Amino acid sequence: MHFPNIQPKITPIYQTSVFKFEDLDAVRQYFDEPGSRYLYSRNGNPNSDELATAVARWEGGVGAVATGSGMAAIFAALLTYCQAGDHVLCAADIYGGSAALLNLELARLGITVSYVPFEDLGDLRAYLQPTTRLLLCETMSNPLLRVVNLRQLATECHQHGLKLVVDNTFATPVLTRPLAYGADLVLHSVTKYLAGHSDVTAGAVVARTPEDVARLRQIGTVFGLTLSPMESWLGVRGLKTMRLRVAAHSENAWAVADFLDKHPAVQAVYYPGLPTHPEHGLATTQGAGRFGGMLSFRLPDDAAVVNSFMQRSQLFPFAPSLAGVDSSCSHPLYTSHRALTDAQRAGLGITVGLVRLSVGIEPVEELLADLAHALAS
Ligand SMILES: *Cc1c(COP(=O)(O)O)cnc(C)c1O
Repeated sequence: MHFPNIQPKITPIYQTSVFKFEDLDAVRQYFDEPGSRYLYSRNGNPNSDELATAVARWEGGVGAVATGSGMAAIFAALLTYCQAGDHVLCAADIYGGSAALLNLELARLGITVSYVPFEDLGDLRAYLQPTTRLLLCETMSNPLLRVVNLRQLATECHQHGLKLVVDNTFATPVLTRPLAYGADLVLHSVTKYLAGHSDVTAGAVVARTPEDVARLRQIGTVFGLTLSPMESWLGVRGLKTMRLRVAAHSENAWAVADFLDKHPAVQAVYYPGLPTHPEHGLATTQGAGRFGGMLSFRLPDDAAVVNSFMQRSQLFPFAPSLAGVDSSCSHPLYTSHRALTDAQRAGLGITVGLVRLSVGIEPVEELLADLAHALAS
């Protein structure tokens, strides 16, 4: 089938697993001139390339690979620099899935990990081994919203010959572009703010050098980590409104944080936008004056109190993900941070009373009224 002169405004979904070649010369062109044609969608597809290019552009990198999930992005990023026998450092405040990958699976393949408490990120010497290759951290940590000084950390890493890999899922490039501060790779769970509508699972890794982009593409292809056309298309569509959404999420989250901070039932609020947050100043400069849509707060360590909050809230359903246009709440101890060891969780203060909110873009007065109702006992 050939369609003459169709010029769609939006890239169509190339829902095909494979592409045709006229003859041997055509397939040779594919191999000799990278980017000139498509072969097989696991290796590359117009939709996944469009998403990768858009994310790379946002992050100021030279290229990217779109992956089947944020976890696939973390895996691909770690494999870019590590092989069996290597050692990695990981910020102690980290997404539970990252800890599970490191503790349960990569350790089995001979890649070991040491966790660095937030307070020690400024001086890594005590954690280094001869085989240490990289440090993995999040711009804004999960779930306590600690803000990492990326410029300082990149300098410290490079001084010791380590690569810096930053999970920028919570901050988004609207707030912070880690490559500009010296990070070597930046990755996303595109599932979250980049796509933004809780309707797609996807990831991306962006690199600052062509060599790393080539490595990432090969890892994506041979491990089968790449993203399908439909999910890529949804990611691209979401990305187009990211700047507006993140501004709205940030405004609402600031108002919710301020409300919770003054509420007698709430023991503590963790939001970088609050002047009482330990990295408020850093968050202000590194985050371009916005603080994102995520926050956590502390109720008494009593499951009945947490259950009452969850049952009474209408606008913050307990849905253990984040970053959709509709608000939600999650519970790190019971969901995202299950895989951490008891000692890790205790060290971070992840207890039963800790509730995480993903503040959506609904009218803020509706959110505040809902929270007031949910917290009244
Ligand atoms: C959700 C999340 C991931 C994992 O992404 P998936 O798309 O669920 O695989 C990684 N890092 C952070 C910070 C996340 O919030």
